[in-house]
Amino acid sequence: MTERTNLIGLSPAEMKAALIEAGVETKSVSMRVKQLWNWIYVHGARDFASMTNLAKDFRALLEAKFTLARPEIVTEQISNDGTRKWLLRSGGQEYEAVYIPESDRGTLCVSSQVGCTLNCRFCHTGTQKMVRNLTPSEILGQLFVARDSLGDWPSTAPGRKVTNVVMMGMGEPLYNFDNVKAALAIVMDGDGLALSKRRVTLSTAGVVPMIKRAGDEIGSSLAISLHAVRDEIRDVIVPINKKYPLKELIQACRDYPGASNARRITFEYVMLKGVNDSLADARALVKLIAGIPAKINLIPFNPWPGAPYECSDWEQIEKFAEVVNRAGYASPVRTPRGRDIMAACGQLKSDSVKLKAKDRIAEMEASRLAQMPG
Ligand code: SAH
Repeated sequence: MTERTNLIGLSPAEMKAALIEAGVETKSVSMRVKQLWNWIYVHGARDFASMTNLAKDFRALLEAKFTLARPEIVTEQISNDGTRKWLLRSGGQEYEAVYIPESDRGTLCVSSQVGCTLNCRFCHTGTQKMVRNLTPSEILGQLFVARDSLGDWPSTAPGRKVTNVVMMGMGEPLYNFDNVKAALAIVMDGDGLALSKRRVTLSTAGVVPMIKRAGDEIGSSLAISLHAVRDEIRDVIVPINKKYPLKELIQACRDYPGASNARRITFEYVMLKGVNDSLADARALVKLIAGIPAKINLIPFNPWPGAPYECSDWEQIEKFAEVVNRAGYASPVRTPRGRDIMAACGQLKSDSVKLKAKDRIAEMEASRLAQMPG
């Protein structure tokens, strides 16, 4: 038996081809795609049986050949501040998504890869071995899990809970360009999940050659994980800087298509005690990005077991923020959310790997003890 194809994540053209392949008549296929998109992305249908305006035999055909499978939910954790974190599994791999409710919006933080190749020194995901890219259906699947769990269908109803999507979970989205592009096209399609491109943000550590392509072909808002304003420091904490140094990165931001005062580029800056948090750094930061329509997001470093850094003192963060504020950038400190469930920025790392790491440490400990004299 051949495996059934997941319809979630197929572009209209791909869905058309799949339906024709399954035996749907060419003359009705466009209409079928329209109907299916409506059921899938507007109503969040979980099965074909519920698609009551489709003929019974068509539904039977769909059932035989296709699925609307979401990733399996391994765990769902709810923080005391309302943040939710899901550990998901599909294709034998695990990855995480986080929902962050705020007074005026609800943001879903979505992963693009299992693990990451970038090894940013302060990031927990960076300590996990890169496993693979997520598919469009797995990237979108994170939104489906969130909407299912929050009772957040239909997409067109007022007062949606998931109003914003940020590609800020595990992985580097610009190293999984095609799949991220395919998924975000559906997120931003008026007939798809219908989020406006202002409400969809792609965050990159600085894959410079792909930034322009992202602007041209994806068209979402852009965030840059800047974190340092001097190459000597950025080389260490965001090692991709050795390949694409600050000068090139900032130029790519200046050239980003669609950046304007209404659609600013977000610069993320993690506050690491004694590393990048001096007031000289703050002044260099505003100088570096002068002229770019920008927002600055200061992120208190979220510690994880064994992390080689500490979060800057609150007083220092405030002084740093003041310099940034005086340069005309408003309310820049991001409050850590979901700390009690390790859902904060940079803490995502699939539990299976964490457990394995724990086992490894236990093993190392055991062998060390075994080697100790006496
Ligand atoms: N690879 C992309 C997407 C990951 S986004 C990127 O680098 O932008 C995750 C954001 O959280 C990035 O800005 C990342 O630098 C930041 N981050 C990672 N670890 C962190 C930590 N421990 N504390 C605070 N922010 C962290």
